[in-house]
Amino acid sequence: MYQRLPSNVDIPAYLENVRMDRWSQAMATVRADCPMPGTIGRVCVRPCETHCRRSRLDAPLAIRAVKRFLADEEMAAKLDAETPPPPAKTGRVAIIGAGPAGLSCAYYLGQQGYRCTIFEAQEGPGGMAAYGIPSYRLPRQVIAHEVAMVEKQGAEIRYGIKVGEDIHLDELLGKGYGAVFLAVGAPESSKMRCEGEDAGYRCFMTGVNFLAEAARGRTPLTGKRLVVIGGGNVAMDCVRTARRIGFDDVNLLYRRTEAEMPADPQEIEEAKEEGVHFHHLVAPVSIVADGEEITGLKCQRMELGEPDASGRRRPVPVQGSEFVIDCDTIIPAVGQVCVVDCVLPEEDALTPWKTLVVDQTTFQSEASHIFGGGDCVTGPATLIKALAAGKHAARFIAEYLEAGQCTPRPIDLLRKWITPDTVGDAQETFAYPGQTLRAHPEIMAPDVRIGSFDEVEKGFSAAQARVEAARCLRCYRLMLSAI
Ligand SMILES: Cc1cc2nc3c(=O)[nH]c(=O)nc-3n(C[C@H](O)[C@H](O)[C@H](O)COP(=O)(O)OP(=O)(O)OC[C@H]3O[C@@H](n4cnc5c(N)ncnc54)[C@H](O)[C@@H]3O)c2cc1C
Repeated sequence: MYQRLPSNVDIPAYLENVRMDRWSQAMATVRADCPMPGTIGRVCVRPCETHCRRSRLDAPLAIRAVKRFLADEEMAAKLDAETPPPPAKTGRVAIIGAGPAGLSCAYYLGQQGYRCTIFEAQEGPGGMAAYGIPSYRLPRQVIAHEVAMVEKQGAEIRYGIKVGEDIHLDELLGKGYGAVFLAVGAPESSKMRCEGEDAGYRCFMTGVNFLAEAARGRTPLTGKRLVVIGGGNVAMDCVRTARRIGFDDVNLLYRRTEAEMPADPQEIEEAKEEGVHFHHLVAPVSIVADGEEITGLKCQRMELGEPDASGRRRPVPVQGSEFVIDCDTIIPAVGQVCVVDCVLPEEDALTPWKTLVVDQTTFQSEASHIFGGGDCVTGPATLIKALAAGKHAARFIAEYLEAGQCTPRPIDLLRKWITPDTVGDAQETFAYPGQTLRAHPEIMAPDVRIGSFDEVEKGFSAAQARVEAARCLRCYRLMLSAI
């Protein structure tokens, strides 16, 4: 289940413990495989729920919300699920990037007795979880709590150090680090391929820069009419953040239809409730400006053609359909790219997309002491994949420090083989109806929530978490008996 359930958290076990009110044990199970449960419990893209067998009966379990319940209990200091780090072993690891992948690697190396130093370019930790995802989805105190847990495992984080500029990787290696874990993410915005995007207009800013500035508490852009281009979660975060910093007229342009949008459907719905105007089957062509000031965006209508490599129907321009949307502010949010070459210039270590080449099982690169994981290996992906990469890599880094090499175990190969399989039978039907409906967390009303960056979604109460956990069909019993 490596790709489908990247972190291999024992979900049935923690659900069973929640059902039985054994919350500390439940949390210990979660922490064994996921070091940022409060983050994941709020903003995970939920691959586990997509594969939950209960969806064939009525609706998948609210696994994410149950995890969040545990994390909230832990933050309120009501649980005792923490494992103190063992005595330090010889061999220190340098981690580049304090995003989810780097933090996860440090956490699990700490649990194996290895102390880490994390070098982070920004002034704070969390990577895109902190400088991308807005606080109305993921409050900053949650990240702070989870980073503190990583530090308790013996990790030291040094901020404001950009490896490749302030210090070079070779220098680090000369300072006694036995191995390096590269976790530098996918920080740069992709180009829209729209005329004028590099002209330096005053109210033009990439989505990741806009969100990072807003996360620092600044008002990065002002204007009357904003256009955001893109259909993913970053675009949703931009339009919803824009509503919160005072833009009244916020427009989202996407070149396919809503059905093809990669953003979480809940995000799309909440953006609509917040008054964002959606324009589908529209692509930007060129920016219209008067001097440095943007006055509009020339666009073209699209229609859907044959499916492309992603399996989604390709947008095809409709000839003669150009038109101009009046606007004074533009934010492109069409994807991110990796720049691992800024840290590791060796060309043969990288793909043409500037991602690091590593072994898919051990996360080890061609240079045996350099490992890597997260977005800088996969390209822009998800939090749970980045956390999983950090966790799996930590095991192999420890092995490398101890034995000088990494040897996958049969379970690693088994995981690869069963990756294409789904959980259970997709055609399965049940002879009885579901009796307990999926619980839904309370959501703040749209007119209230656009007035601040307060968290939109509330957590489950203990009673809700217990009832939800009891909806589990306990498929693990079937799965274990099948092995
Ligand atoms: C706006 C936005 C919203 C998202 N929403 C979701 C969501 O809802 N759910 C979800 O699952 N995923 C979401 N993602 C994706 C998720 O945030 C990423 O997949 C995840 O953060 C990747 O983790 P990472 O550690 O690999 O990289 P990052 O989080 O990018 O962290 C990399 C870290 O390395 C640091 N760094 C980079 N270069 C250097 C250097 N040279 N020296 C030192 N430090 C360096 C960076 O400053 C950063 O702190 C979102 C992403 C964005 C941008």
